Amino acid sequence: MTLLAVEQLEARHGLLQAVRGVSFTVDAGETFALVGANGAGKTTLLRTIAGAHRPAAGRISFDGVDVTAVPAYARLRTGIALVPEGRRLFAGMTVKENLLVAGAYGRRGHWTLETVLDAFPLLQRRLNSRAGNLSGGEQQATAIGRALMTNPKLLLLDEVSLGLAPIAVEAVYRSLEALIKAKATIIVVEQDIGRALGVSTRVACMLEGRIILTGSARDMTREQVTEAYFGLQRARRATS
Ligand code: ATP
Repeated sequence: MTLLAVEQLEARHGLLQAVRGVSFTVDAGETFALVGANGAGKTTLLRTIAGAHRPAAGRISFDGVDVTAVPAYARLRTGIALVPEGRRLFAGMTVKENLLVAGAYGRRGHWTLETVLDAFPLLQRRLNSRAGNLSGGEQQATAIGRALMTNPKLLLLDEVSLGLAPIAVEAVYRSLEALIKAKATIIVVEQDIGRALGVSTRVACMLEGRIILTGSARDMTREQVTEAYFGLQRARRATS
């Protein structure tokens, strides 16, 4: 069943067109990885799906409803949650407060303070610490936990491993694997192509605002994705 349908989406930052006519669908239960070089438009696309950035054109349907004009806070209630690049926690609030605030704004469901702490055991002993004092891995776990507290139907994860020590990346991905096994629907932006292919059911590669390659993660090779990532396919077409 299609949960998210993005059609001919365009998004701009002033005169700069960051997303150019992007269309794709995500089925319920899928993990969809979005890869691409810096500046390809992944963050803008994710923020536009979450309602944090207004599209210039196109349509976003979620769970059968056109949400293109629905503001971010209302989109959260329909079940779309974004874990933004850079985490954006309330630094002066404790981990527990960060989680509970999100819980108050979202939907009711499986995810509560208890179930989030089960999924991210590293947060248990940090519950009363201020978010600003946490390590990068702990902050990322809090940011994902905060999104889960809204009981999303679709979780958007923007570069969850950025700036983390390898051991923290492993811990975050272990928790994500548990979510994926539980059939959560996830769009994950990931710079590491191997990890993107390993964690997802489908992969899309963005270049200069467009999706230039999409397919089943099982059928795609690392080389194909790497070529698309660096725009080598296009360069090769131009010279042949
Ligand atoms: P990164 O991996 O670096 O986050 P990305 O693929 O997520 O890259 P975006 O952050 O969406 O790409 O950026 C797409 C384009 O839009 C880039 O050219 C970027 O410089 C530009 N851009 C992004 N945010 C803004 C902004 N707030 N104001 C102006 N231009 C922006």
